[in-house]
Amino acid sequence: MVARRPNRPASPLFRVRPSVSDELAPRTSIKYSCPQGHDFSVPFLDDPEVAIPAVWRCCQHGRESERSDGAEAPKPKPPRTHWDMLLERRSIPELQALLEERLTLLHKMKGVRQIKR
Ligand SMILES: [Zn+2]
Repeated sequence: MVARRPNRPASPLFRVRPSVSDELAPRTSIKYSCPQGHDFSVPFLDDPEVAIPAVWRCCQHGRESERSDGAEAPKPKPPRTHWDMLLERRSIPELQALLEERLTLLHKMKGVRQIKR
């Protein structure tokens, strides 16, 4: 560490000016109870979209600590399958028509191959 002379002004390159963008987003503090017998709190963004974990690792003991307020972790959504995504875009009758069209095309192609042999 380099000691600065007390009467020397700070370099303009390193002068920090506060700006509007330096303001912190609103936060909420969540308390966790360590199994070793102490509590600690962790700041989170105060936003209902943010999922706050039910368990947080204690930085002193490395133990998983549960929330003091007893709130449970949000249940994860079941993963969307390819079938789910397909049903969002097309109806069953549309899919049946598409299947018939593709099967007809495949049967025609198979017939062409058999003729060539
Ligand atoms: Zn601890």
